[in-house]
Amino acid sequence: MVLNESVAIVTGSGRGIGRAIALELAAAGVKVVVNYAGRSEKAEETVSMIREAGGEGIAVQADVSQAAEVDRLVQTALDHFGKIDILVNNAGITRDGLLLRMKEADWDAVLSTNLKGVFLCTKAVSKGMLKQRSGAIVNISSVVGLSGNAGQANYAAAKAGIIGFSKSTAKELASRGIRVNVVAPGYICTDMTETLPEGVQHEISQRIPLSRLGRPEDVAKVVRFLVSPESAYITGQVVCVDGGMEM
Ligand code: NAP
Repeated sequence: MVLNESVAIVTGSGRGIGRAIALELAAAGVKVVVNYAGRSEKAEETVSMIREAGGEGIAVQADVSQAAEVDRLVQTALDHFGKIDILVNNAGITRDGLLLRMKEADWDAVLSTNLKGVFLCTKAVSKGMLKQRSGAIVNISSVVGLSGNAGQANYAAAKAGIIGFSKSTAKELASRGIRVNVVAPGYICTDMTETLPEGVQHEISQRIPLSRLGRPEDVAKVVRFLVSPESAYITGQVVCVDGGMEM
């Protein structure tokens, strides 16, 4: 329980990778603020799972792309738990399409949630972290942010943007004891990827040296390491959790 009594906000943790991260942190003794956009039943389910396992958590709705909602999210976390030690920027969406067919609204939606959301949440929590002179932030990018992907120009731009943002903030905040790292998952089985036809999933798994798609828990365990004191000398790094796909 190396993280006992720490407090975390995990954005988009009602389901998928975010939920696995919330459960993994709660199991390590972290009090977790489970943020979500609209699916309250899923977020409440995550909180119930945390409580059933003996942990502490609350669900807070907030759209991470809206500054006022992010401020309310952070204030609710502070009112409830008194401090914020950990931020995991996990909330993300896709609006895939080939360049010539990609609508401006698809570009704006993905950049607003996936990149601006990371900026707003980081800025909002960093004030308290600077004061307490400690904090750990993990931003969830994607291997697509490193390699690009046809049909995902908006998503890849946002995910690559997260990497530049994270390295900049890692440099800016390091002297005050705040670490910022990035996890770049490959293909992980969640609602986001379940729409892929089975044939495509099989074809993808054949391109993965470890021969399988990832599980949300594969990502969550790395996040737990990166927010724990065990990674005290690591900042500004990108860790791919992709079964070896991008090496
Ligand atoms: P998911 O199953 O679709 O879940 C997305 C989560 O984000 C949900 O909890 C959703 O809330 C929340 N969310 C969406 N927009 C939001 C907003 N504006 N404000 C607050 N919360 C918002 O996605 P996932 O597959 O777990 O992906 C999680 C992260 O990993 C994303 O950043 C994604 O880009 C990244 N990633 C995923 C994969 C993959 O293969 N799955 C690969 C690489 C990277 P509601 O439940 O309320 O809708």
